[in-house]
Order: sequence, then C-alpha cells, then structure tokens
Amino acid sequence: MVARYGRGAVVAALREGLAEARLAAGAMPDTAAILAGAAAHLAGQPGAGLVRVINASGIILHTNLGRAPLAGAALDAMRAAAGYCDLEYDLPGGRRGARGARLEALVAQLAGAEAALVVNNGAAAILLALAGLAGAGLAGAGLAGGGEVIVARGELVEIGGGFRIPEVIAAGGARLVEVGATNIVRLSDYRAAITADTRVLLKVHQSNFRMVGFTCDVGIGALAGLAREAGLRVVADLGSGLIAPTPGVDEPTLRDALAAGADVVTCSGDKLLGGPQAGLIAGRAEALAPLRRHPLLRALRLGKVSLAGLEATLRLHRDAPGAVPVLAMLAQGDDVLAARAEALRIMVGSGAVVASEGYAGGGALPGRVIASRALALEPAGGADAAATSLRAADPPVVARIAGGRLLIDMLALGDGELRQVAEALRGIIS
Ligand SMILES: *Cc1c(COP(=O)(O)O)cnc(C)c1O
Repeated sequence: MVARYGRGAVVAALREGLAEARLAAGAMPDTAAILAGAAAHLAGQPGAGLVRVINASGIILHTNLGRAPLAGAALDAMRAAAGYCDLEYDLPGGRRGARGARLEALVAQLAGAEAALVVNNGAAAILLALAGLAGAGLAGAGLAGGGEVIVARGELVEIGGGFRIPEVIAAGGARLVEVGATNIVRLSDYRAAITADTRVLLKVHQSNFRMVGFTCDVGIGALAGLAREAGLRVVADLGSGLIAPTPGVDEPTLRDALAAGADVVTCSGDKLLGGPQAGLIAGRAEALAPLRRHPLLRALRLGKVSLAGLEATLRLHRDAPGAVPVLAMLAQGDDVLAARAEALRIMVGSGAVVASEGYAGGGALPGRVIASRALALEPAGGADAAATSLRAADPPVVARIAGGRLLIDMLALGDGELRQVAEALRGIIS
C-alpha cells in the first residue's frame, strides 16, 4: 500500500481505521479488518488509479474486471502508438492520411466484407449503424421523426449497465417498431410491419441470455430475402464478436452473418475478439457510406492506442489465434486446468482440487458452462471474510464462493499468477 499510495496516505487511513475500531465495541481491533478497510479507503481516493487484479472468478470476460486481457503483441503495439505515430499521416507522401484505413481493411478481410469501420465500442457501432441508415434527416426526405427500425420483441435486449436496444435506436434518431411476441416471431410479422418509412430490419443476437422451450425466430438469411424484396437493409448486432468460426465456441460470426445476407454487422472488440474496448462495423460498402459521412462518427471514433491494440489483436486472429489470450483460455484442456489447480494446492499446502463451473462472460455463450477446475478452501473465519481479505491483497484476488466454500478458479488465471495467489491465500489461512 505504501508503494502504491505513499506513506502519509497509508498512515492516515490506518489511524482512521483504528479510531473507528476503538469506537466500536471494546473488543481487540481486528487487524485484518483494519488493513482491508484502509486498502478499500485508499483505492477509493481521487486519482488512485485502476488496480490490476487477479481473476480467480472463473469468468473469462468479466465486464467488471475489464473484459478481455490483451495479448502481448497488442500491448507492444499500444505502447508504440502512445507517442507520435502515423495515425492520420501518409509517410511516403508526407501529407494527411486516412485514420484507421489499414485496420479497417483488415477487419473487412477477416469478416469477408467489402468495407469496415471501427468505433469506440459495440454500443457505438449499433448507434452509428442505425443513425446512418435510419436516423432522422439522413435516411431520406420526409423522415422528420426518423426511419423505422423493425426488431423482434424477443431481441429488445438490455446490453448491460441499464442500456437497452430501444434506447439506442431512439438515440440514433430512428423509430422502433416491435414485432412478434417475446418467444415467437415469424417472417410474416416483419413483412406486415413494413411501411414507406421502414429503413432497417434489425437482428440482435441474444448474447447475454437464452430462450428455451416454445420459441421461434427468423434467421438473417430470411430477413435478407425480405429486405431485398422491400428495398430495406438488414443490420445484425452480434455483440460478442467472433470474427470467424472457432472450434469449441458456438457463437455467430461476422463472416457467417454477412454470408447469410446481412448488409451491416456490428460487434464488440473486447469480448470474444479479445482486444481493447472497441466496436466493429463491417458490411457492404454502399451501406457503410452514410455511416462514414455521419457526424456521429467523429464523436464515436477510436483513439490511437486502442486502434493500435485492436489491429495487433486482429493480426493475431489472422496469423496465430492461439496467441489471443481469450481464445487460449477457452481452449484450455482439463489436464492443464487440473495441473494448475494442483500446483496451487501444493504451494498453499491446503484445500482440495475440485471440478468447477466457469463461464465465458461478457454476454458471450450465455448459459454454457465451461468445465474448469478450482482450489476449494474452507477457511476458519468463513468464505465471505476470506474473499474480502483476498480482495484486499496486493494484487487483489477476485475469487468465487460456492456452497460456502472459497473457490480459486483456474479458468482465467495464468500460471505466472499462481505464486501471488498462493501468497495471498497463505495470509488468510494462517
Ligand atoms: C455487449 C453487447 C453490446 C454492447 O457492446 P459494448 O462493446 O459493451 O458497447 C451490444 N449488443 C450486444 C448483443 C452485446 O452483447
């Protein structure tokens, strides 16, 4: 704590914690609780900065923990771009160049698209796509209130943090038209809802939940057929952003959605794509043209450091997918996870290696349990108190509690982090 926040601040926080403990019942102050309280207080101070944590939660794309951990090659590219770089400069010509042109060409190449755009995140990608294709004023004459965007009721998803698809459509200056019931929508529902003001058929991937039972929805191929007939465009929000088929990962890909006939597809850069926060838009050049001209693009554009990290991550997808940490974590065999858990058990000298349920997280592969392994501990003071102490360790360790036991899940842990986890655990076990 002294190294991170400075001695003065740490002493002040400890004095405050002690004073509070003395005011409480006359019992002996609990040293661990005072340290944990001081750590929490210091971490909450203005300018304390982001704190690196160890993810022992078993959730690979934990949105609260920053989603995808970046590949080394992405970090190198981000560091190189952090100073001066040729962001918008044509080096051979010595004049102004196009920002992100090479990155966009790579996105288009990987997705099998004519053209691509990159923006700040997945929500920005949907916002720009709808504003550009159906927004008020830009979608064509006579659309004062904006063009209509038809969406199935079962796809009116809350993305997270309170942001919902209907609000994103409204913010883009378009009008939402809901069709179908929660569980059932048919092509005839879309067809019946089309008016002279309709511009877009929107397909939203149910990325953070699954509907099971009596359900029916309309695939991109069928929507594309209807869109061709009616002179409309199909926009598909895929959310999790798998670019091309990946063994063992059952999520729709940009490539498949475009091949099925979507005009524009959007996804996040920091979910299954495994890059920095970003949004990808790929599709037909003609459909992307109004997005490229839209004033929102300037407001939603990606910064140079993220741009560099995303491009490096995508190069890995092309040349060495195994080097993308998220994909590598998803591909870990049980033997690897079990060996890691056993190594930690030996280092800690207590606990048991157990089967555990991990998740992709980040709104990807909902409901699919990823078989993992964990070191299970039953600390004397209870699992809750132990988890709190682990979060106060340096670096903090975010574990999981299940059935009253503390689980250190191996799915999102690196072998290189075991020593630090063991140290934090020894502190609470002793
Ligand atoms: C995650 C997600 C988004 C939002 O992407 P962000 O990058 O978090 O802005 C939008 N739509 C779907 C279906 C998602 O899963």
